[in-house]
Amino acid sequence: MRHRMQQRTMKKYILVLDQGTTSSRSIIFDKKGSIIGVSQKEIKQYFPQPGWVEHDPMEILATQIHTLKEVVTKAKIDPQDIAGIGITNQRETTVLWDRDTGKPVHPAIVWQCRRSHDICEQLRRHGYEEMFKEKTGLVLDAYFSGTKLKWLFDTYPDLLPRAKRGELLFGTIDSWLLFNLTNGTVHTTDVSNASRTLLFNIHKLEWDTELLEIVGVPREILPKVKSSSEIYGQLDKRYLGLEIPIAGIAGDQQAALFGQTCFDKGDVKNTYGTGCFMLMNTGTSPVSSRSGLLTSIGWEIGGKVTYVLEGSIFIAGAVIQWLRDELQIVNTAAETGIIAKNVDDNGGVYFVPAFVGLGTPYWDMDARGIISGLTRGTGKDHIIRAALESIAYQTKDVLDCMKKDSGISIKLLRVDGGASANDFLMQFQADLLGVSIQRPKQVETTALGAAYLTGLATGLWKDKDQLIQSHDLTSFTPTTERKEIEKYYKGWQRAVKAVLKKVD
Ligand code: ADP
Repeated sequence: MRHRMQQRTMKKYILVLDQGTTSSRSIIFDKKGSIIGVSQKEIKQYFPQPGWVEHDPMEILATQIHTLKEVVTKAKIDPQDIAGIGITNQRETTVLWDRDTGKPVHPAIVWQCRRSHDICEQLRRHGYEEMFKEKTGLVLDAYFSGTKLKWLFDTYPDLLPRAKRGELLFGTIDSWLLFNLTNGTVHTTDVSNASRTLLFNIHKLEWDTELLEIVGVPREILPKVKSSSEIYGQLDKRYLGLEIPIAGIAGDQQAALFGQTCFDKGDVKNTYGTGCFMLMNTGTSPVSSRSGLLTSIGWEIGGKVTYVLEGSIFIAGAVIQWLRDELQIVNTAAETGIIAKNVDDNGGVYFVPAFVGLGTPYWDMDARGIISGLTRGTGKDHIIRAALESIAYQTKDVLDCMKKDSGISIKLLRVDGGASANDFLMQFQADLLGVSIQRPKQVETTALGAAYLTGLATGLWKDKDQLIQSHDLTSFTPTTERKEIEKYYKGWQRAVKAVLKKVD
């Protein structure tokens, strides 16, 4: 007994596998949540037809194993000191493989892939949309795994009989990695990933028989669904020389919410990347949206399920890239924050970056962008400022929907992602929302979330309170008068209306 106790106190690291859309990374965290090593390898993107996107599951596995070994060497740690391994992953991406050989029967169909669009339309025509929304919290869209699977079964008729005989297994990327890293002994996923398949009943917390029948997915291929923080199996000892428990799994956005310590009902995080991903913790009950937001499972810990509302913005940081690469009026994204302060305000200029339509709450896929309110006095600084402001306005649009749908008021917004480094944008965002913003020093919130989930399951951290204490933050508090800021927001709403009206 004493020997075991001694061993346990030595463990001081968590190793996270962060399998993203463009790369596989492995990151080691210490007990303070600080990063002590990173290894990264890009993965190839395959575009076999316009709108189709594939990855090679074997490449995903190989790059993940490569970085797993490399990060341990780079960080110069003893693998014996690793308390557990966590997985966070690109969500919805679909892999189907042979149970015995462990080989995929088809390339991974990536979340962005639109190939099952027609299947979604068909299901909609049959009147199933409401049923899917009610049971899964999702909309019938090609993003989610269910119709990707149906596409595989429709396209390759030999797969269905094989699946029914129990020869094939399905999994999202977490499941695919877990299966292989445990030497084919564990076929499991966590609730957060399951909730993005269109096949999982988020109320009953089980694969939904009726939906499986409608989509035509045999139950035999499905992984067991477990919580997000428990020991699922052991990393095979061939990788690091000893077995290590794999003990935390969450899809990337949910992991980021957890990494931002959004543990309580009403806590929200926004990731300012190419687009924005916003998630709100709605507590132990799922909230059904009337604005087109998605309802998903955030995580399950110790038998307690936390639900989330999720909204996204298509173009956020990408508008800054556009200023840099297309208009070429800035050299770097970072300088926009300084340039925006050269002018007192936006000078009546509004930039609606509807490059690919507008999502929540407008849902107009045909809308296209405008820069409005131009006068002789307008300079490029106004346009740059308007572009940054547009990111904040769109965030407010989505947050207002979250507030309305959930009836929960928002006290604080936690931020991460590339564009959250922009202090002007963050201050303007705080002013616009009338709520404080917190930006963690540690911006790897996705991997950190998976580390937290793993550390809670393996005893590195005692409870969630310990995690909050270790957070180092920069805060932005609202300073501008509400009246003034509301004037700006009205200007934005007018500009958006013009875009929508144009299409009518
Ligand atoms: P993704 O994960 O979607 O690739 P990142 O989180 O890496 O995105 O963020 C990159 C995006 O953030 C780019 O679109 C870039 O234009 C924008 N960005 C990066 N730094 C800044 C900055 N200081 N101000 C405004 N936008 C920025």
